[in-house]
Amino acid sequence: MAVQHYTGSCQCGAIAFEVDADLDQVNACNCSRCRRLGWVLAFVPETAVTMVEDGPTTEYLFNKRQISHRFCPTCGIEAYATGAQNGQKIYAINVNCLDGVDARSLSPKMNDGAAY
Ligand SMILES: [Zn+2]
Repeated sequence: MAVQHYTGSCQCGAIAFEVDADLDQVNACNCSRCRRLGWVLAFVPETAVTMVEDGPTTEYLFNKRQISHRFCPTCGIEAYATGAQNGQKIYAINVNCLDGVDARSLSPKMNDGAAY
């Protein structure tokens, strides 16, 4: 599939972005948050994301508090989270929020987040 350009948003549109992502490289996770959300994630560098509408968002932190979960206070959808990898800011994009993408048709790599 390789890297393609996508648009995405929360349900109400207060958060909207464009992102370049390779949906062959997506993740799902069984941690206490991800299993509740049931989301599929695409991890991309900050440079791959252009925010079109950014909020306001409400931040939620848990566990080691290193991932900033940002959800829309109006519609409740978490379209992305941010974190850091090797000192670089990264985005975890909620693939369910991408236009024209059926996240259930993808083959996510399972992260054993429940083990941490
Ligand atoms: Zn919203």
